[in-house]
Amino acid sequence: MKDYILTVGLEIHAELKTRTKMFCDSKNDTNETRPNTNICPICTGYPGTLPVINKEAVKSVLRLGLAVGGEVADYTEFDRKNYFYPDIPKGYQISQYKYPLVTGGSLNDVALTRIHLEEDTAKSTHTTEFSFLDFNRAGVPLMELVTEPVIKTAEQAADFARELQLVLRYLRMSDANMEKGEMRVEANVSVRNDQTTMTNDQLGTKVEVKNLNSFKSVERAIKYEFERQTKLLMGGGEVVQETRGWNEEKGETFSQRVKEESHDYRYFPDPDLSKLFIKEIEEFDRGVLEASLPELPHNKRSRYKKDFGIKDQDIEVYVRDEEWGRFFEEVAVALEDHELVKLASNYITSDLKIPISTESLVEVIMMISRGEISSRGAKDILRHIQEVGGEPKQIAKEKNLLQISDIEVLNKLVAEVLKENTGAPIQFLVGQVMKKSKNRANPVMLQKLFLEMLDH
Ligand code: MN
Repeated sequence: MKDYILTVGLEIHAELKTRTKMFCDSKNDTNETRPNTNICPICTGYPGTLPVINKEAVKSVLRLGLAVGGEVADYTEFDRKNYFYPDIPKGYQISQYKYPLVTGGSLNDVALTRIHLEEDTAKSTHTTEFSFLDFNRAGVPLMELVTEPVIKTAEQAADFARELQLVLRYLRMSDANMEKGEMRVEANVSVRNDQTTMTNDQLGTKVEVKNLNSFKSVERAIKYEFERQTKLLMGGGEVVQETRGWNEEKGETFSQRVKEESHDYRYFPDPDLSKLFIKEIEEFDRGVLEASLPELPHNKRSRYKKDFGIKDQDIEVYVRDEEWGRFFEEVAVALEDHELVKLASNYITSDLKIPISTESLVEVIMMISRGEISSRGAKDILRHIQEVGGEPKQIAKEKNLLQISDIEVLNKLVAEVLKENTGAPIQFLVGQVMKKSKNRANPVMLQKLFLEMLDH
């Protein structure tokens, strides 16, 4: 299989969390459980109704475009994508074809083709007897992001989807919850034989895999397709261009339909909607939009690396969870010292399950650095704070965790033990002092003291 090369392009849809829908003022609420509640004549496709563009939705996509370094269109329009299906009773989906809002850009080192805006369809549920339609979702603003076919592994595809989810959340434009269908991934998978005369930009026949509802299934489905297509090619067969579904239980893809070409959709500009000259619209002012961007995940990663020098694994925890990120930064600012910040980060990621006060953690770290408590003691104190609360110094006293770091007291203990055990190895001597002090002597200082004394 080493002669066969995998190429993947992704198409990712995400529902935007605007207050109202894309072309009407029905409420956009993904948590609504009663079917057909947030609907009106426009989003249910009545003839004679007029859609109106939701500026908030356009703004979100423009901000994303700037965040990924894409080119924002000067001119854009909406098109009708014609097809017949009960979940879109107008007979067409309003989408964008020739003039997407954003072109190019990149994310996670993956080049992007375009980002455009369209409307979501109704949700259909099928039983053996009936099909049900829920229009709460119909007309919800849906952005579609398409990558170039440049992804080389299943893992890279899943990583890209994870990073996009994070960016959408940072921009507060979508919750992008895959389990709730707020973010949906489709993968275009093709395989080619490296030994043929194909040049690098010629790809094998592409197969589109739909219904990928988790990052894990993105990865599994692509791996499955790579194997399926490779086996076909190795056996002298041909890959059929088609759309395939993903069966999570069986762990395999299955043929759904032979893929339409874009001309089957008879795209044409929607005459009911105004054209948008982005530059002339005040709300879309580039400077204002740029200034509204938060610090993005990749910038946060490099800042944490540069300013605090903490482990990549810890950085990822803070980048993925903004609450923990804020907490860590507060602690880091209070501690200043690089080594102490690293130490604090270790305790945050391995000992804290719930947030405690910044002051408490800073105090615990300072107590360790002053040699007042051991790392074992610090763990006990942190557990106690999370379970019942309390103040570090007080807890250390009550639990008898304060170490003896007083040099005179330690010197006395060392002298006693040396007198009682002439010629014994250092580890044994340290152990004897620990015993005498009921485990409260500072072991690091002890080690040092013994080394100094035995040197003389
Ligand atoms: Mn689409």
